[in-house]
Amino acid sequence: MDEILRVENISKRYEDITVFENLNLSVKKGEVVVIVGPSGCGKSTFLRCLNGLEDIQDGQITLDGQVVDASSKNIGKIREKAGMVFQSYDLFPHLTVLQNLMLAPLKVKKSNKKEVEKEALALLDKVGLLLKKDSFPRQLSGGQKQRVAIVRALIMHPEVLLLDEITAALDPEMVREVLDVVLSLAKEGRTMVIVTHEMQFARAVADRMIFIDGGRIVEEGAPDEFFDNPKTDRLKQFLQTFSY
Ligand code: ADP
Ligand code: MG
Repeated sequence: MDEILRVENISKRYEDITVFENLNLSVKKGEVVVIVGPSGCGKSTFLRCLNGLEDIQDGQITLDGQVVDASSKNIGKIREKAGMVFQSYDLFPHLTVLQNLMLAPLKVKKSNKKEVEKEALALLDKVGLLLKKDSFPRQLSGGQKQRVAIVRALIMHPEVLLLDEITAALDPEMVREVLDVVLSLAKEGRTMVIVTHEMQFARAVADRMIFIDGGRIVEEGAPDEFFDNPKTDRLKQFLQTFSY
């Protein structure tokens, strides 16, 4: 039993809208789960629930032993166990790359400054951005900013990394450099839940694929089976809309 994340029958509603109902998911340590589905099906909302940014109306989320359910007063308590990277990088414009990276560890974790700096530099080196440590976000390309955003999540030592369409806002020539970083994280054995529309990448990085439509998991499985032999018409149709 090396399960790190367990989602049991969670439902998310906004007043009269049900975004999803009775979703279940179990993720093992080191596993990479990729979620795909049509726009508006609730992928971002689901990740936001896993990160304690959204409350849930039913069910229970257990992340590294920390439980959040519909009655939880403090949904944010799972947040420090999950690192999230969004489509928009949201780096602080007035801070350098290094300052952006060191902010949360120093403020939230009260970590030792020298050690945090050392780790920030090592991580920057790993994503090929050591030379940009003193640059400001406006001096970086979109792909570089997104790699900084990944490092900003990693430096908090999350148990699970949640990636929400992190290449969706990038020019095509920058998509590769960001996806390569994610592939290397997968190789290192990082646990990740990834939402993406990059199907080739999904197939390459995923241990397990999940297709959400109409607020439920319609199909899931190993990537080869999922892409080569989809069982439901809905997944077949969805995959046909991508030319990969
Ligand atoms: P996806 O990421 O799959 O495109 P989202 O999770 O962003 O989908 O949205 C799922 C559904 O939830 C959409 O119909 C959206 O309009 C609705 N939704 C998202 N956030 C809110 C909100 N704060 N209030 C009401 N409805 C919302
Ligand atoms: Mg989304």
